[in-house]
Amino acid sequence: MAAQDVAAQEGCLFCGIVAGDVPAEIVRIGRRVVAFRDINPQAPLHVLVIPRDHYDNAAALAAGDPEALAELVEVGADLAAGQTDSGAFRLVFNTGAETGQSVFHAHGHVLAGRRFSWPPG
Ligand code: AMP
Repeated sequence: MAAQDVAAQEGCLFCGIVAGDVPAEIVRIGRRVVAFRDINPQAPLHVLVIPRDHYDNAAALAAGDPEALAELVEVGADLAAGQTDSGAFRLVFNTGAETGQSVFHAHGHVLAGRRFSWPPG
């Protein structure tokens, strides 16, 4: 796989949140990741955890910065542990437009605080 340019991408909404140019309700700032509340929450806890650096999706992030991906999962687990009774959470990476990815900066949806059905729609 070709190396990806991780510099902030012009016009990327989530790069704008990392830079502080786009407002967001930030709940955690980590070494490599930032977490903020989803603007259209689908569960009592719905946080997006994103790498500070720009990767188009979770697969590109795994290839380019696996430590950031590990930190993303750790932050999601920690937020769910702190904000729910059970600590249970669902972590979703829509990867590609066909799966519903609409923002092409890697992000994990951390969803928690209610019961979830399976399979997802
Ligand atoms: P996806 O469809 O998987 O790419 O997820 C993108 C998510 O970003 C959606 O759940 C949106 O509700 C969320 N979103 C879009 N714009 C913003 C924003 N400015 N602040 C917070 N969340 C956002």
